Amino acid sequence: MAKDYYAILGVNRGASQDEIKKAYRKLAVQYHPDKNPGNKQAEEKFKEINEAYDVLKDEQKRAAYDRYGSDAFQGGGFGGQGGFSGGFDFTSGFSGFSDIFEDIVGGFTGARQARPQAQPGSDIRYDVTISLEEAFRGKKANVRFTTFVKCNACGGSGSEGNKKPAVCPTCRGMGSVRHNQGFITIERTCATCGGTGSVLSDPCKKCTGSGRVKGEKNLEVTIPAGVATGNRIRLAGEGEAGFKGAENGDLYIFVNVMPHKIFTRRDNDLYCKVPISMVKASLGSEIEVPDLAGNICKIKVPHGTQSGAQFRLKGNGMPFVNSSRRGDLIVEAMVETPVSLTKRQKELLEEFAKEEDEKTNNPQSFEFFKKLKDLFS
Ligand SMILES: [Zn+2]
Ligand SMILES: [Zn+2]
Repeated sequence: MAKDYYAILGVNRGASQDEIKKAYRKLAVQYHPDKNPGNKQAEEKFKEINEAYDVLKDEQKRAAYDRYGSDAFQGGGFGGQGGFSGGFDFTSGFSGFSDIFEDIVGGFTGARQARPQAQPGSDIRYDVTISLEEAFRGKKANVRFTTFVKCNACGGSGSEGNKKPAVCPTCRGMGSVRHNQGFITIERTCATCGGTGSVLSDPCKKCTGSGRVKGEKNLEVTIPAGVATGNRIRLAGEGEAGFKGAENGDLYIFVNVMPHKIFTRRDNDLYCKVPISMVKASLGSEIEVPDLAGNICKIKVPHGTQSGAQFRLKGNGMPFVNSSRRGDLIVEAMVETPVSLTKRQKELLEEFAKEEDEKTNNPQSFEFFKKLKDLFS
């Protein structure tokens, strides 16, 4: 099943990398699953776009595709959605990687196996749990894990004394060999060099020629203010070291934000329920509510405030990532009925009850019982 990756992205065969990137971004935004929830067609399209871009953005893969068509990649599982699906990533300042759209789902698993010449390191997932306060301010997190790191004895080349590897005599550096069978030419990965195109005359003793060894990585990762559960931070090249100096995998920090005692988060808004005494709610009052920045916000509660009434404090919610914008803080009033009344308080309330006029003082009760009466008469 040959696919026309150029047609999928709507560019011509001679398109520059810039044009391809532009076309991809436009389509990726248009068909992103977040924008088309439940739309199977858009989802398929999104996968297709990613598959096409995965190949065309890479000059080597693109050249292979131009020669052999998309079938060259089918075994490699291009465009497959990997284990880390959904959601946008934020890139950390750590790696200097700036392109958020590079991180949209797709092309995660197996994509690189299509070229045995450069067997890169695997991507690594690392989970970080932070408090809502930390999500509000942002955080520098220490990330420590064991993985393959570049062998420092050979500098990752796998060759003792960092001698240049020799060109593979079998494939003459091509990484593949051709066999003629009648009219058909079959191309196979070279068995002598495993497709790398080169052979080591003297493999490094420390890493036995693989160019990498097990080691510990210790990184300081900047978690930007405003992150939410499910966000990922990509650190390009900080994953597993590649084989024989091939490209490193990426490190993905998965963020989990713990629930908070007072605030509930919905997108970038924060919700908070505040009890107000019956008297204050009746007469009107001013209450004070803290926000996560440590500000004390004053709210004027008008007389006659009911339970469930909401007060919106604009800009006192969670920050948006990489932006000075903030969501809102929404305070919900909960009118509290007084308990443990003294004798005197009871007397006052009984006296109050005598003065009470259902229709004007408690219009909701009045309306409710009127409806009930209508229903049964
Ligand atoms: Zn080595
Ligand atoms: Zn070879």
